[in-house]
Amino acid sequence: MKLPPFIRRAVPLAPLTAYQIGGPAQYYTAPEDRDNLLKALHWAENEKVETFILGAGTNLLVSDRGFDGLIVHLHKFLDQVKVDESSGVWTAGAGVKLTPFVRQTAQAGFAGVEALIGIPGTLGGALKMNAGAFSQEISNTLLSLEIIDENQSIESMKPEDVGFDYRLAPGLDNKIVISAAFQLQQDDAEKLMQHVREITALRRNRQPLQWPSCGSVFKRPEADFAGRLIEAAKLKGYTVGQAQIPEKHANFIINLGGAKAGDVLSIIKTVKQRVFELSGISLKREVILIGFTDEELIGS
Ligand SMILES: Cc1cc2nc3c(=O)[nH]c(=O)nc-3n(C[C@H](O)[C@H](O)[C@H](O)COP(=O)(O)OP(=O)(O)OC[C@H]3O[C@@H](n4cnc5c(N)ncnc54)[C@H](O)[C@@H]3O)c2cc1C
Repeated sequence: MKLPPFIRRAVPLAPLTAYQIGGPAQYYTAPEDRDNLLKALHWAENEKVETFILGAGTNLLVSDRGFDGLIVHLHKFLDQVKVDESSGVWTAGAGVKLTPFVRQTAQAGFAGVEALIGIPGTLGGALKMNAGAFSQEISNTLLSLEIIDENQSIESMKPEDVGFDYRLAPGLDNKIVISAAFQLQQDDAEKLMQHVREITALRRNRQPLQWPSCGSVFKRPEADFAGRLIEAAKLKGYTVGQAQIPEKHANFIINLGGAKAGDVLSIIKTVKQRVFELSGISLKREVILIGFTDEELIGS
């Protein structure tokens, strides 16, 4: 098949994910403007090629075979941040990195997203995951979203149309976030920056940040913690190939160097099985898996 100039073939995905794991994308595009983004989506639709939107790949495990479709990597544009200081409305593109955005708002004396400091990834990924930490979620201060819908038209959405829940944004399935507006509150910049520094230190103490990972692998079950359950199942230190549940944080799986997606998937399945046997709790994955067959995903 002859490809349009903005689409490449066989692009390695491991370097584009926080895990540093996975095979290539069959097709790949990194649009530089909306026009190219829409053209790429039209191409995929015409060719009946599955698409996947990639932000910073910080919550993603790509299979060792790669992804048999088009990866649309939103990191080259959608990077503008605008603020209306009098109303406290901040508008940012989906490709903006969350942690620098949070720092910028806190330094400017605006409260509402400061507890999200240290979450890697883009704003688009954060909204799709309803990312959160320390009792704040990205959706808490969200005013509106600009999205591309299933018919490739650019539309506006209200948070109540999305049905945000814990690490869930069901209304964004099959949609692409372009930008988002947040209603932040004026506050003391020094107090907010102090909070930012405290959270940064806590994250550094609790998380094995020197190793590639996707952060927490499992969602928090009701009235318990995934990390506590995994530790109780005596799985700290459990290793398959070059993937390991680290001593420092039982809800992480780290890549010790050269881990395969199959190693991580095998640990995920063991954790789910052992925790269920021990506690009757069925852990739910937070990490997104792409490129795996339905059979491979059984038990994950
Ligand atoms: C060390 C570490 C710590 C972490 N700590 C936290 C934490 O405290 N809290 C937390 O919630 N998460 C945490 N995470 C997970 C991750 O950072 C978040 O889920 C993040 O919001 C994902 O953003 P991303 O751009 O990397 O998304 P990706 O991993 O690229 O994609 C994640 C999902 O979002 C979709 N997506 C991406 N961009 C768009 C878009 N523009 N429109 C529509 N869909 C899109 C993708 O298709 C995919 O389904 C952590 C990860 C790491 C590595």
